[in-house]
Amino acid sequence: MQAVKYINYSKKDIPVLFEADCCVCGGGTAGVPAAVMAARGGSGTIIVEKGVSVGGAQTRALVLPFMPTFVEGSDTPIITEIKKRMLDEGIDMDDKVTAFGWFNPEKIAYIYDKMLQEAGVKILYNADLIDAVTEDKKIRYVIVNTIEGLVAIKAGVFIDCTGDAVLARISGVKTEKGFEKTGNNQPMSFRFEMGGIDLDRLYEYTRSINDNWCATKPPYFEIALARHRDIKYPLEPLFVAGFERGELTEEDIEYFQAFTITGKPGCMSMNCPEIPVKFKATRAADLSDAIVYARSMIHRISKFVIKNIPGFEKAYISREASMIGARESFRIVGKYQMTENDYHERRKFDDAVAKTAWYIDAHGEKVGEYLAKGEYYEIPYRALITNEIDNLIVAGRCISATFILQASMRIQPTCMSLGEAAGAAAAYSKKRGIAVNAIEWDKVENDIKAYKK
Ligand SMILES: Cc1cc2nc3c(=O)[nH]c(=O)nc-3n(C[C@H](O)[C@H](O)[C@H](O)COP(=O)(O)OP(=O)(O)OC[C@H]3O[C@@H](n4cnc5c(N)ncnc54)[C@H](O)[C@@H]3O)c2cc1C
Repeated sequence: MQAVKYINYSKKDIPVLFEADCCVCGGGTAGVPAAVMAARGGSGTIIVEKGVSVGGAQTRALVLPFMPTFVEGSDTPIITEIKKRMLDEGIDMDDKVTAFGWFNPEKIAYIYDKMLQEAGVKILYNADLIDAVTEDKKIRYVIVNTIEGLVAIKAGVFIDCTGDAVLARISGVKTEKGFEKTGNNQPMSFRFEMGGIDLDRLYEYTRSINDNWCATKPPYFEIALARHRDIKYPLEPLFVAGFERGELTEEDIEYFQAFTITGKPGCMSMNCPEIPVKFKATRAADLSDAIVYARSMIHRISKFVIKNIPGFEKAYISREASMIGARESFRIVGKYQMTENDYHERRKFDDAVAKTAWYIDAHGEKVGEYLAKGEYYEIPYRALITNEIDNLIVAGRCISATFILQASMRIQPTCMSLGEAAGAAAAYSKKRGIAVNAIEWDKVENDIKAYKK
């Protein structure tokens, strides 16, 4: 039996549970592609996840579907592979009309477990990253709280895919949070699912109030209203009347959206309630208070739809998210900080790792602008690396971007492509012996790159 190594951390000897080439912290939307690609590239990889499923916002916060990037050819190979694997599991994600990627959370969690296992990634569930030991601008160990108590994990490269830049912050990387003009984060949502819905009846009802409303048919359709947008949604008068009768609060009617879930007949995923911005995604007490507040919103909204919307008569709350949905919290300030100018100028980069044209979708702020068909901007590798830490890559919604730019780059397909690039970069760093923050992505061989220009 191999002797267990210990390190002294905070005046205690704690075991080094794993040693790996690459340690991905946070097994979410970006984390899974990062770990899979690092392992496929030849790096022994471990993924540390505090929940009991990988997929993050996709599985734990019940966020679906993949929004479209609105630009041709943006799907990097991992996205194509996930879509194909969903199809093999009997879930057709590909809606040709809206280009949304419709999935269901249970299937995607299962597929992700399989992808990680096939790639040889060690999954460590129920493991909360709490600290890091750094030396000479490098992270040597991460400290993780587990059933065994605190343990250390040693790795050559660390990828922060926590969504909240947890590893970057504890390692001393500079971060920003919220909108510089208001101090607010984007509002959070506490998503839930409803079952027992007569989807055909609901669909006919939505068609009866506005024929053009739903571009698609069951199993792919949504109902929505968003009062911060200029568009007037057909459901708005119904919800406003509910507010006037005292069935809903003004906060309940700010944003409402429900998507069908492919592979789950009679179910919808509710992209609401949207929690008021006074609850900040970056404060511990707010994050907890927000859950209590949102849970009462969930029960009010579901009661309202059951009473007032045809098709919902026999519906019920079938599932609550196991993680609050934060659209934005902390963002790193990396080697390159993306700004809204990159969006407005449709900027391209020699070291690009992804492209998107998803609009600036900052809930709570009227700042939207759409790019014309065929236009897009790119995300450079330098927005994923930092000056402070040589062996750290950050992928997902907390990369180096201003609040407004983040409101465009944060959608799932883009986060997945960023994870994919981060994993490839980790493997490249090991093979070439180059620190990840010294890699010049524009000079890297094309066959290493998932996103090809
Ligand atoms: C309410 C809401 C609706 C949205 N709607 C859509 C939509 O319809 N379509 C779309 O494409 N995008 C949507 N988005 C955006 C998109 O889902 C997210 O921006 C994206 O999924 C974030 O990916 P990520 O990998 O950065 O983080 P996540 O997917 O959240 O992954 C982070 C992972 O890290 C883990 N973690 C965090 N801290 C620790 C720690 N200390 N230790 C261990 N593990 C940790 C978490 O448990 C989680 O698994 C929405 C977002 C929200 C919040």
